[in-house]
Amino acid sequence: MNNGKDVRSYKAQKVIDRMGQKLSRQIVGSLTACVHCGMCTDSCHYVLANPGDPTYAPAYKADLIRKLFKHHYDWTGKVFPKWVKAGSVYTDQELEELKDTVFGKCTNCRRCTINCPMGVDLATFNRMARGLLCHVGIMPEGVEYVAKEQWEIGNQMGVLKEDFIGTIEWQEEELQEEMQDPTAKIPIDKMNADIVYTVNPREVKHDPRSILDAAKIFYMAGENYTMPSEGWDMTNFGLFNGDDDLGGAVAARVYDNVRELKGKKLVMSECGHGYRSTRCEGPNWAKQDIEFEAESSVITMLRYIKEGKIKVDKTKNPGSYTFHDSCNNARSCGLTEEPRELLSLVVEDFREMYPNRAENYCCTGGGGAMSMSEYKSRRLKSGKVKAEQLSATGAKVVVTSCHNCVDGLTDIIGHYNVGMGVTQLVNLVANALVVDDRISENAMKYAGEEAVTA
Ligand code: SF4
Ligand code: SF4
Repeated sequence: MNNGKDVRSYKAQKVIDRMGQKLSRQIVGSLTACVHCGMCTDSCHYVLANPGDPTYAPAYKADLIRKLFKHHYDWTGKVFPKWVKAGSVYTDQELEELKDTVFGKCTNCRRCTINCPMGVDLATFNRMARGLLCHVGIMPEGVEYVAKEQWEIGNQMGVLKEDFIGTIEWQEEELQEEMQDPTAKIPIDKMNADIVYTVNPREVKHDPRSILDAAKIFYMAGENYTMPSEGWDMTNFGLFNGDDDLGGAVAARVYDNVRELKGKKLVMSECGHGYRSTRCEGPNWAKQDIEFEAESSVITMLRYIKEGKIKVDKTKNPGSYTFHDSCNNARSCGLTEEPRELLSLVVEDFREMYPNRAENYCCTGGGGAMSMSEYKSRRLKSGKVKAEQLSATGAKVVVTSCHNCVDGLTDIIGHYNVGMGVTQLVNLVANALVVDDRISENAMKYAGEEAVTA
């Protein structure tokens, strides 16, 4: 019955007990619906990169979790245990092996889900399994590190408040210089703003240009906005590591700061897992309704152009561009048309990648997968189909609305020598802005004021 292992380890017992608390209707539905037809198999980028290895098949990976459910929580496992392949875990070593699959052989991209006729959502219970293992301290080192940073410091990259403010002030100086306007601001903690703008910590730490580009767009649109000095990280590692408590705490921090500042709308910069976490999953994890609007900056930028608040000139972005759909944006949030519409307005040559939208392949960055260095070679190998997709477009630049995808794609492009740049919509919109007249007016105005003062 238990393969001769009479005693279950403390951690294995905790995993089983906690599974009972995490079995939502959605998860149980997916755990029971699989008919093992195999139609999802070739939809997984890991399978395509490892054709001779059945351990990468979505149904195989799912069965490692499903067998626990069948054994402990489903009547079929009690009546026909062998038939439904019910089984348990007994040792910490078995938990380690499960860890290798749920963290290292699946990016929770959900491509298999949309190719399953039964609607089995492996990613949902794969995330649950990650959370069960994290609960007993079994997780990749990088996952533990990032989760700790977000719990303790408040953002995934451990950016201190003074460093965040310092970076924003630095970008404000850049804004003033570029716009020739010493009064241009990137407001921090301004009360009653129409928009509270939140970002990915990668922007603060590695890509402040994206904050400057957003600030230029807000400046030209004349937006009444602010950035919060707390709760500015709209990413949420709880989505990746399956820790609903972390997910709820992070989401609540963002929502609470919008309320404290009496902001009217929350806008999130381009980040797939951040958008999904904060707009779609966060209210459930945080157990609260949000009374204000929450919007992707992609929609904000598109609205500005449509309302005539900003003007863009697509000839400022010459060259050929393609678009990569982030899994979280496209498959989990339906954000597929707005980025294309926006991209078509700011570049001259936009070429679709095939397949696209909800059928697009994962960048392999997977909302946090970059944090697990031990799986890097496996991840890069699984990116072969993505590299082929990119190459087939013939485009010189791939655009994406996700910071994780920027890093995932950059890795793949380098590994497979694709010869392509990576950028985001905010960078292209800022570059396409028609600002020359405004800058000339500012230059004359403030030069005049300086002369009078002198
Ligand atoms: S998950 Fe869906 S597509 Fe895959 S084997 Fe099961 S029923 Fe078939
Ligand atoms: S969620 Fe994505 S990575 Fe995971 S098994 Fe399905 S297709 Fe493969």
